[in-house]
Amino acid sequence: MAESVYSVRISLDSVTIHDDSDLIGAGELYFIGNIGGHTTGRSPTRSLDSGTTVSLTGAVWVRELQVAGSSSIPITFEVWDEDTFDDESLGRISVAVNPPWERHQYTTPASSGKFTLRWSVSNTVAVPSLPSISFVSRNYDGSSYVTTLVLPAMVPMVTFTEILGLNKPAVDDRPVRPSGTTKNSGFQAGYFSQDDKGRIFTNRLPSGAWAKDQQYIDITVQVVPLPPGTTLPGGVKVKWSFTDPDDPTNEPHNVHPDVGRLLDPNDYTGTTKTGANASDNNPRGKATATPHFDTADPAFPLSGDETPVEIASGKSKVRFQVSDVAGDNFIVRAEAVHASFLVTIPGETGTMTVWDRIEIEYVKMHSAHELPIALITSHYEMACAQVDVSDKRVVTGTANMAHMGATEGAAYTKCESYCTKPTAGGPGQFTHEGDGGWFFMVAARRFIPAATATILYEGSAEAQNDIVRLPTGTVLAAAPAVVRVFDSTKIAGMSPPLPNNRDLHIKFRVASRTGRDLRIATHDFHAVDNPDVSFLDAHLGTYGFAMGSSIRVQVLSAGDDALVTAGISPGGTSVGGRHYFGGKLLVFTDVTTGPEVLITLCHELCHAFDNAHKCGNWDWERKPSRTACCMNYWFQFVLDDSTPRRPMAWTQNRESPNMCGPHIVSIRDYHLEDNPGLGW
Ligand SMILES: [Zn+2]
Ligand SMILES: [Zn+2]
Repeated sequence: MAESVYSVRISLDSVTIHDDSDLIGAGELYFIGNIGGHTTGRSPTRSLDSGTTVSLTGAVWVRELQVAGSSSIPITFEVWDEDTFDDESLGRISVAVNPPWERHQYTTPASSGKFTLRWSVSNTVAVPSLPSISFVSRNYDGSSYVTTLVLPAMVPMVTFTEILGLNKPAVDDRPVRPSGTTKNSGFQAGYFSQDDKGRIFTNRLPSGAWAKDQQYIDITVQVVPLPPGTTLPGGVKVKWSFTDPDDPTNEPHNVHPDVGRLLDPNDYTGTTKTGANASDNNPRGKATATPHFDTADPAFPLSGDETPVEIASGKSKVRFQVSDVAGDNFIVRAEAVHASFLVTIPGETGTMTVWDRIEIEYVKMHSAHELPIALITSHYEMACAQVDVSDKRVVTGTANMAHMGATEGAAYTKCESYCTKPTAGGPGQFTHEGDGGWFFMVAARRFIPAATATILYEGSAEAQNDIVRLPTGTVLAAAPAVVRVFDSTKIAGMSPPLPNNRDLHIKFRVASRTGRDLRIATHDFHAVDNPDVSFLDAHLGTYGFAMGSSIRVQVLSAGDDALVTAGISPGGTSVGGRHYFGGKLLVFTDVTTGPEVLITLCHELCHAFDNAHKCGNWDWERKPSRTACCMNYWFQFVLDDSTPRRPMAWTQNRESPNMCGPHIVSIRDYHLEDNPGLGW
């Protein structure tokens, strides 16, 4: 009945480059492999000419895998040529190894013809269903290692049967799934992160319930005596250990190298990638919990690093406490130990990663447009934060309003009271207010009633740093609220009025007016951890408009086209002069439309992790035309990397829903449970 079980060692040995795809000089090449679903990460980049052979050395290129019966092991291998804007693929090899697991070295050419991979199957341990056959640890030809024939009575194999608190992406384990709600990962029996994507949540019990400063998994293994018919000796134990594999999030070629260095600094020396190096958890020293094993069940007390095995069932259990920095990752290994064992087949989980998880209560006013809340989570994956829409309601009657108030003051007050716990006859809608892990998002229509902005002046003006000087004798029919400044190269040949197109202009709020001089509010830029003090306040001069130079402007009166409230974050608290966000947000869907809605949602959620906005950074993605971090305002320029940082002309309106490197690492390191604004 039982199929054979094999422990197979596969190694990727060397690669020969036939075509480095570089017309001038050597290609800047790197490799990415995958053995049985486990990525090797990206190799260091090397300057390689056609005809060169490179040995692949290091633990990442070797995998020992347990396979049952006729299962096969897939292997892939890619070669990439590193380039400034994006990398070029030199091809991909995809093969599958099948039983019998003959020791052998294989040579596989890429179909592109640009390289050849040499790889090996070796050190096979086979435990057949027939008890009379002994088994052997093998090596490929030419190895100096001596093959040993072993004749044991029994070999114990450890298998992972259940890991409570480990969540598999795309598994929704809720018994009831109300429409419009999501759960982006969940428990699955038998899952031990074979795909290296398992998530362990901070501040959650294995049940999923919020529990401050609790993050652990309860692991059950079974020690199976092989071949069938044999039994475990009394006193057998399971010995537990864990390792910290490389953080793989910086490995894909579409992650910008500047961001990669922030995510996983120990993969780099200076700006050079040196490998996909292990032992990189807690990269910035922000963890407050230390990974270790604990007793999960009094029937299986942990002593040292061992737990006893229940002989009849072969079961043992342990609790694994993880650290509390998102992105930290672990592999747990379990091996049966007893003085009589000559050979064992240990079990190993895939890579399991610490994630944050937040739940959103989503209230949609009946007459407002739907918000794409379920789309937030994909943009938070880089930060290892799962965003679930756990509760959704459509509200009508007095809870469904055309605007929050007739004046700004009245609207603020209503927004505050709307985002509180419901009381009899009261305006509150946030049923989970104060519950750990819960945020509140509302689709509303408008903050205050609509108002039309008019163009008070259009034409040339003089740039004077934070002054826009209008021509002598200019008369404005109303108070100026905003000045738009246009990109002269893009408006050449266009006649007034110039269109309200964000690709063509930036804008400044008018702070005050003296005669024909409009004093503009500067554009502030902030380090992610400093919302109170800006590191740059940019005026026209900073943006590259020389003192006294002529600029094309439009001066607008107050109204929707000049300045409009797109969203608002009520609640929160101030501690020591510092504001902390309250996990509450209203988005006004009459005025925020298209891609801007998702960008606004991602922006506001990033504030909840205690981040300042207006970072001036590109987002993490590497591509020929880069996009900006969602924390920027569309009408400000992106900054370069010089010291001090300087604005890059006409890089406005490039926001994406993604974040920049500094915002991603800030979220990974942040301890949401300690945010006083949330009151969890
Ligand atoms: Zn903001
Ligand atoms: Zn940013």
